[in-house]
Amino acid sequence: MISTTNLLKLRKSFTAKWYDERPWLEYSIKTNSCCCYFCRHFSALTTSSQKKPQTDAFVNHGFQNWKRALDKSKGLDRHAQSQGHILTASNFTVFQERGRIKQNVVQLLDKNRIEKIRRNQERLTKIASVLLLCARQSIGIRGHDESENSLNKGNFIEMLKWASSTDPIVKSIFEESTRSSTYLSPAIQNELIKIMAEQIKRQIAEKIKGQAFALMADENRDNGGHEQLSIVIRRVVNADNHKYIIQKYFIGLIRLHEFDAQTLSNEIVNYLTNYGAKLDSYIAQCYDGASVMSGKCSGVQAILRQNHMPNGIHIHCHVHRLNLVIVDVTKHIDCDQSHLFNEIQVLKQMLENKKLSSIAELYQHMKSLEQAFQRIMSMVKAALTIPVSSSTCERVFSKMHLIKTRIQNSMTDERLGDLCILSIEHDCEINFEQVIDQFSVVHKNSRIMLR
Ligand SMILES: [Zn+2]
Repeated sequence: MISTTNLLKLRKSFTAKWYDERPWLEYSIKTNSCCCYFCRHFSALTTSSQKKPQTDAFVNHGFQNWKRALDKSKGLDRHAQSQGHILTASNFTVFQERGRIKQNVVQLLDKNRIEKIRRNQERLTKIASVLLLCARQSIGIRGHDESENSLNKGNFIEMLKWASSTDPIVKSIFEESTRSSTYLSPAIQNELIKIMAEQIKRQIAEKIKGQAFALMADENRDNGGHEQLSIVIRRVVNADNHKYIIQKYFIGLIRLHEFDAQTLSNEIVNYLTNYGAKLDSYIAQCYDGASVMSGKCSGVQAILRQNHMPNGIHIHCHVHRLNLVIVDVTKHIDCDQSHLFNEIQVLKQMLENKKLSSIAELYQHMKSLEQAFQRIMSMVKAALTIPVSSSTCERVFSKMHLIKTRIQNSMTDERLGDLCILSIEHDCEINFEQVIDQFSVVHKNSRIMLR
């Protein structure tokens, strides 16, 4: 039981306990008065003329009559029971409810959006992986007749159709694509193929960074009658886990419109520069016998060596002579002759009873001693880097003819080059997550929501 003295004491000032059961009550330390939050902020919503907003101390200047605060006829409770307050309290409830619904709608929309994005990403990953499979197997992607009633819509669509019988994600691609043919359009295919090829190019650019390498190029006519120059680079791999110590990378096709040596040189330089390769890292160039490429004074090789690749000696395909190469390479390697002589003397004794049949074997044998035989090793590496022939380019062309067949000869140069990279460099892993990420950035048709 509360004593009368205590009760009087309590009523001399505001008490925090008054907040209980009164969510509307506000107290200001500054003015030492209390107000009604509901009546001050939610009376504007009142439209009925009969229900006037409250105008007592709780709304105007603040209530301070602490002694009467708990009086039923004057204080807090009297305000709480007034018509005006009851109305603003109900306005406040409506306001709160609206906020809650709005938040729920936003959350629901967000959840739907995230789910839609996830499904779109899954669908595109399936599409990209089928495109990659077609490219790696060098089989045609497009069909001759992709119309609704066609019985054979080409490998890409037929493979997806086959997968759709067991894979609900693939099935949904067809369901979504009936409304807008977005997912299966050639434009989407091209975008995905390009992104995957770019990913491989970046991997190769990373691998050849800072290395000495050889350039190989050869021209051939594709099935659409266009001249294509294929570009391959070759280098020695240092890593022990590689099966082959020599690696060749196909880095692309250049469509040729003009065939003079200067234009060809410019095209090659532009292409290699875009690839991020340093031109003075090329220690050899290998072309077939065509004079425009291999011409002694005004061929591509002469122009490149004079203006761009000072170290790029020319190897006439099939006429690779090792001594000549070594002599020429030595000129470009910073080499103290007396040191080189010492290295040769020591190596000679070391190899006396060894049977080594190729430079590659010599390289493998000496790999662990690289620090001790720096000069010899740089020459051995150079000799290995230099190609014997540009036959790798010919293998590129056989793939090119498989990809751009006589029937599919309307293929764009970009798509052909990208498909060749995917087909030839099939050892490179494709990161589909990155592909979809990249696609969401560059995709021009924003109908597929991915972000
Ligand atoms: Zn009020």
